[in-house]
Amino acid sequence: MSTSWKAGIPAPSDDDLNKCVACGLCLPHCPTFRVTGKETASPRGRIAAMRAVSEGRAPVVGDFTVMTDECLSCRACEAACPSGVPYGRMIEAARAQTEAVRTGPGKAKRRIITGVIARPRMLRAAAWGIATAQVLRLDHLLPSGLRMATPRITFRDLRTPLPQAAGEGPVAMMLVGCVMDVAFRPVHQATARALVRAGYRVVVPDRGGCCGALAAHAGEIESARTLARERIAQFEDADIIVVDSAGCSAHMNTYAELLADDPEWHARALKFETRVCDAVQIDAPGARLIEGRVAVHDACHHLQAQGIGPEVRRTLRQAGATPIDLGDGGRCCGAGGLYAALEPEMAATLGEQKARAIISTGAPVVAVANPGCAIQIRAHLEALGSDVEVRHPLEIVD
Ligand code: SF4
Ligand code: SF4
Repeated sequence: MSTSWKAGIPAPSDDDLNKCVACGLCLPHCPTFRVTGKETASPRGRIAAMRAVSEGRAPVVGDFTVMTDECLSCRACEAACPSGVPYGRMIEAARAQTEAVRTGPGKAKRRIITGVIARPRMLRAAAWGIATAQVLRLDHLLPSGLRMATPRITFRDLRTPLPQAAGEGPVAMMLVGCVMDVAFRPVHQATARALVRAGYRVVVPDRGGCCGALAAHAGEIESARTLARERIAQFEDADIIVVDSAGCSAHMNTYAELLADDPEWHARALKFETRVCDAVQIDAPGARLIEGRVAVHDACHHLQAQGIGPEVRRTLRQAGATPIDLGDGGRCCGAGGLYAALEPEMAATLGEQKARAIISTGAPVVAVANPGCAIQIRAHLEALGSDVEVRHPLEIVD
């Protein structure tokens, strides 16, 4: 568990830091190390920097901030580490430290993005603006990194209603979310139908509500805590809480950690976490038989954070499809929450690598269960002139 650094701001704990024996076995699994070859862009280097800050040998501003900003939070290092170093919570605590002292345009950019995402009405208004700009091709005036990181939003998506309550059985309440709500409602529709096929009564809140993952990844810790409390209160009556975004389900399973300093909410968060269920974990028969090859991109927040991977393949096989692995060891696509908008060069390198791996399978469609990955992969496939379709696994079998 993170210890407090300044009032209310966590920091990597000594226990967590001391687990790292600097063996370097995580280095070949780290995307930023593979691209740069630099120790400062590796998990071992970042942990050493956290230790230097913790011991007062280095300031938070400067190199430490650069090193943490360049990390994707993909947690491939955590999955590979034989010593059980909990890197995910360490980097989130390190991000909270850097955000506590960050000033200038970088701070403003993060505040604006996370502020809009946390407010459903403001986000929907922004989404209409993005859709209009994309129709008029005004988005081409944006720097290419920012354009690639912006979701493709159509007026049809924005007019798609949320799923209606349906089915009989235990109550499955769906997270409407933020980016999922404005750009991926067809995924919500497919998820709701899968839940009915699986024997649940589907209940959908009538408006969006962010889980706080993007705020937490950006180090906006108080905003992340506020959103966690809102979601816990919103889902009190659910038998299960169904989440069709890998990044959101992974984050919602860390609410107790996030609210560790608040006994009442910590206890509620522990109960909440037992009911969180990623949509691909629901054993729902496919709505139709589909034949053919489907490439599978494993989102880091599925594979590395939750060990989810076989479930996506099982879902596709049940419907008759042949899932195809990408053969890149599940490497991060470079989306990383707000990463693609904030670190466009590294994100572009990794996005192009991922798109090429997908194209090389020869499959006409790729299963992607996270909105950030879907936005990033779709943009890079299009940039390479590919017409491979990007779909959530439940949309494919719907
Ligand atoms: S994080 Fe784990 S694998 Fe990486 S250097 Fe430390 S102990 Fe070794
Ligand atoms: S989270 Fe990903 S990018 Fe960051 S150090 Fe670990 S493997 Fe590297």
